[in-house]
Amino acid sequence: MMAVPFRRTSKARKRLRRTHYKLQVPGLVECPNCGEMKLAHRVCKNCGTYKGREVISK
Ligand SMILES: [Zn+2]
Repeated sequence: MMAVPFRRTSKARKRLRRTHYKLQVPGLVECPNCGEMKLAHRVCKNCGTYKGREVISK
């Protein structure tokens, strides 16, 4: 027979546990060049740089 929880997890306990759940979608980082939020491993669409160089001319 499987073990059954003695007490049901309360609403407060459940919510407390879920406070650690991520609020934001990962993969969004701050651009080191202009400080704007950009997608990780992608050229920044604000300033057009990636890893310092690889500039997209505008
Ligand atoms: Zn940028």
